Amino acid sequence: MDYQSILENIYREIKPFEKEGRQASYIPALANVNPDQFGVFLSTLSGEEYSLGNYDTKFSIQSISKVFSLAICLSVMEQDELWTRIGKEPSGSAFNSLVQLEYEHGKPRNPFINAGALVMADILISKLENPQEFYIAFLRELCGNDAVSYSPEVASSEQGCSYLNASIAYLLKHHGNLHNDVNDVLHFYCMMCSVEMSCKDLSRAFLAFARSSEPFNHAGVSLSVSKVKRINAIMQTCGFYDEAGDFSFLVGLPGKSGVGGGIVAIYPSKYSIAVWSPRLNEKGNSIMGMKALELFTTETSESIF
Ligand code: GLN
Repeated sequence: MDYQSILENIYREIKPFEKEGRQASYIPALANVNPDQFGVFLSTLSGEEYSLGNYDTKFSIQSISKVFSLAICLSVMEQDELWTRIGKEPSGSAFNSLVQLEYEHGKPRNPFINAGALVMADILISKLENPQEFYIAFLRELCGNDAVSYSPEVASSEQGCSYLNASIAYLLKHHGNLHNDVNDVLHFYCMMCSVEMSCKDLSRAFLAFARSSEPFNHAGVSLSVSKVKRINAIMQTCGFYDEAGDFSFLVGLPGKSGVGGGIVAIYPSKYSIAVWSPRLNEKGNSIMGMKALELFTTETSESIF
């Protein structure tokens, strides 16, 4: 397959949409990002790589971090234990919604909404001796780039205005689903979201999830084949909040987005693809990224369906 020409065609096709949407600004530091950037990086399991545009520019991974947290949580605890604290159904609501959490008595619908990720941050603080170092070392090994790190500026910018996330955390605490101090959990959550990676880093890192027929063993994170498949299943059903149905319908791959404008998707046993463009739609997903992936699975006729 001539993936490189396909990526180039796609870039031409999505260019008319390049001014649609705006970058996230509810985290003040993200408002400073130049919105007019687009990058894509594709890594295949057979070792080929293809790229285009700003594929090597670092950006804030934001909610893509939730996939890494889930992988660590599943390696440090029994699945049954995790699923008593977090559900695994799509939420159909915004990533930072409080409503469902209230009427479901403090059990988040899934690990990929903020409520679920705050519970995962709490678990990692309880289970790991040095959660911050462990998390960064895991990401570095996954993508093979020792320069990967978090942005103290973005982390404190988010924590300084984390009113909704703090409300979610206190509701979780009220229901006994947060064991550590609320501020410690918010601090670690914001740090994980503020990690900066490029499309190249993310695509390489997610190859480990695409390699779903082999056990996962990276930087002390060990997962059975079954656990990797389950992470991918949750990406498929919950990776895009209240746009998960559309992503499944239009793209047809398990994936995860973040408000930094990044999206990573995998084709199990075949490839991993990361796209980035900061302008978002009203659901908080990258407009150019969504369109690029829709065209990619259409023009390659490669989707899991
Ligand atoms: N850090 C962001 C937040 O909590 C992550 C949201 C996202 O990427 N969807 O609001």
